[in-house]
Amino acid sequence: MKILLPKSDMILEEGVSEIKDGKLYLYKSGVFKETMYKLSYMIFGDDECYYCHRKLRKEPSQTERKKFFSQISMDHVIPQDFGGPTITDNLRPACTDCNSAKGNMFEDEFREYRKIRQRTASKGKQGRAERRLFKEKILLTQELRRYGNIASLPAEWITEEEIKNVYVNFWLTQPKGSAYQLMFESVKKYNYLMEVATITGNGFLVDGFNAVLISKYYEVPIRAIISENVIYSGFPNEL
Ligand SMILES: [Zn+2]
Repeated sequence: MKILLPKSDMILEEGVSEIKDGKLYLYKSGVFKETMYKLSYMIFGDDECYYCHRKLRKEPSQTERKKFFSQISMDHVIPQDFGGPTITDNLRPACTDCNSAKGNMFEDEFREYRKIRQRTASKGKQGRAERRLFKEKILLTQELRRYGNIASLPAEWITEEEIKNVYVNFWLTQPKGSAYQLMFESVKKYNYLMEVATITGNGFLVDGFNAVLISKYYEVPIRAIISENVIYSGFPNEL
């Protein structure tokens, strides 16, 4: 896929990242995520919540924060827990209230929840019951997503990639630690690896390292997002 980029060429950070001929070039390792955040603010603006349209300030003063503005944050439209990648296409500036209320909901679910919340706000006990029912419905949907029975990512984003052909920019060791453990428990239970790998157009892994480790070590299939218009051009041993 081609990820969303600003239309015009520009240097984002001298010697680190630039947009040239419609492609994003990264000259340094470990900067993919922060570059995606930076680009998303450029593309979608940094002064309005994507969900409630509240006016936002990136760095509100004390008075602004109290009176008019909520703080800005970056929301993963498809939640990270469901493999939502950190690419511009999946990021939107949102107020911290919406971001935390949305949690692991998908966009349509959250928009529906907001409507229900508005409609039932003054209904007391009955309102609470209605909201609880909706959340239970969402939990069921999430369970199906974890089994891979409901696709969580748009089909046009992902490919089935042979990860062994990808330049992995770290030494592959045996997975350990709690993050790996959680991921592994999930793979064992659902027989499905939710997390995806993000790979540049020239084959460098820039995100989803844990998922690749799990995939290699336990031999479970992994899906990859190949961002054709992102090029890593540092040296592999610097990664
Ligand atoms: Zn909001």
